[in-house]
Amino acid sequence: MSNRTFACLRCRKLQRKPVSLATFNCPQCHAECICVHWKLHVPAPRKRRKWDRFWAQYLLELRMIEQFRDGQLGDEMYLPLLNQRWQRRANDYRVR
Ligand SMILES: [Zn+2]
Repeated sequence: MSNRTFACLRCRKLQRKPVSLATFNCPQCHAECICVHWKLHVPAPRKRRKWDRFWAQYLLELRMIEQFRDGQLGDEMYLPLLNQRWQRRANDYRVR
């Protein structure tokens, strides 16, 4: 069983947990942790500036995916952190 990185943004902590977990709550603050895309390397929490920049961008891209699915943001978009290009064709969308 492979592991995935889960991050608690409130505590600035990373934990490796089995990928089968749908959600994982932080043992310290009990907030729901964010499961990170397997391709991404998350900066070490003690590197505060890198950490903040990473999460600002990652959360932005997650919001953009939701907005794109809602039909906003036009017919094409590129997500630099995830390195994904999304295109809408007729009535569907797909990842390239
Ligand atoms: Zn926490």
